[in-house]
Amino acid sequence: MITSWIESANDAGLGFSLDNLPYCSFSQQDRSPRLGVVVGDRIVDLYLLADENLLPSKQALMQPVLNDVMALTKANRLALREALKGLLADQPGMLRDHSGLVEQGVHEIQNVYFHLPARIGDFSDFYASRYHATNVGAMLRPEEPLLSNYKHLPVGYHGRSSSITVSGTNIRRPVGQIAPGVGEENPRFEESSKLDYEMELGVYLAGGNLLGDPIKIDNVEDSVFGFCLLNDWSARDLQRWEYQPLGPFLSKSFASSVSPFVVTAEALEPFRVPANERPVDDPPLLPYLDSDLNRTAGGLDLQLDVFLLSEKMRSVGLEPYRISSGRFRDMYWTIAQMITHQASNGCNIRPGDLIGSGTVSGREKISRGCLLERNWLGDFGETVSSTNRLSLELPTGEKRDFLENGDEVILRGFAENSDHHQVSLGECRGRILAANV
Ligand code: MN
Repeated sequence: MITSWIESANDAGLGFSLDNLPYCSFSQQDRSPRLGVVVGDRIVDLYLLADENLLPSKQALMQPVLNDVMALTKANRLALREALKGLLADQPGMLRDHSGLVEQGVHEIQNVYFHLPARIGDFSDFYASRYHATNVGAMLRPEEPLLSNYKHLPVGYHGRSSSITVSGTNIRRPVGQIAPGVGEENPRFEESSKLDYEMELGVYLAGGNLLGDPIKIDNVEDSVFGFCLLNDWSARDLQRWEYQPLGPFLSKSFASSVSPFVVTAEALEPFRVPANERPVDDPPLLPYLDSDLNRTAGGLDLQLDVFLLSEKMRSVGLEPYRISSGRFRDMYWTIAQMITHQASNGCNIRPGDLIGSGTVSGREKISRGCLLERNWLGDFGETVSSTNRLSLELPTGEKRDFLENGDEVILRGFAENSDHHQVSLGECRGRILAANV
């Protein structure tokens, strides 16, 4: 680990050393958003450094969002990262030794506001955990949990970018159509009572193909800009009534939350692992979804935790309570396969597009990444199956099947090497507000 003159960067457990350097969009009080880089417990103002001609790709850095940085070539992205390391390393330099610049351009994290880091053009969400798909499938169709296409292609749906909000933005409980109950003839239109989160990894794309040109799996790496935590909020009662035959629609589009920091592909490079090995009786991959590189380094070793903080817990001063813990390396489909598949029909991806991995779940019960699955709530929450049930009881004694108003869901994620040096993804928080009825 290269040490920094910003001392908190050298705290290996904090996860924001010079090995990480995630980007963000931030503002102070009444000033407009600027790009920043996270170093320890500080935000360094990239606009200011670019304006002082201390960094390459000056024009891309003097914007309120990262899209132009995401559009840089891989070589230019690397050059920017190296220049930043040079300015922030504990050695004589144009920033460390310039007290005026440090005072103007280095801010304590708690004194700034965060904004969406990119103008997100398109958002699509996958379903890449075989455990998640099998568990949800088992609740809906015990006779055929995984549909016949699942092992051949990374299933996904096109989401909505207008309602993606940055961590800390409150989430309004949605209202919508809910299936007729037993003995009822017509659906109801009322607030969702089965509100859920989904713990996912978000991937910001760097672009890379023209309309009509697929991306080969071995070239897809250049299209990955970086990663965030993503909460794909889901209203299970709306979803149950609307999802057939075209998939989720209003049950998902009311809100999705992302963490404010974008951890670059370069920062997570040391945590690449082999793709999850396909069981021997699984069908062979079609060649466009297979490559040596994907097999040997398609996975990512990240720990992803979900915490809950209820209104009552908050009022008595309790800390958020961890309700699940999953690992991204358990995913059946890799990020490279998801992007390759998305572009395989010639659909163009653009810098700033976002994909979601789908709910990250593993083999163990505690690794299930949403409440529907964690608590084993059956047919979109309509029935409860007892054998797989994992009841959720909070430290206050409160019980939860689905989320209540005032509940705050907090996603945290990090990678850790054998020296216990962490690269943190930060946090993604969202608190449920009562519905607008
Ligand atoms: Mn999802």
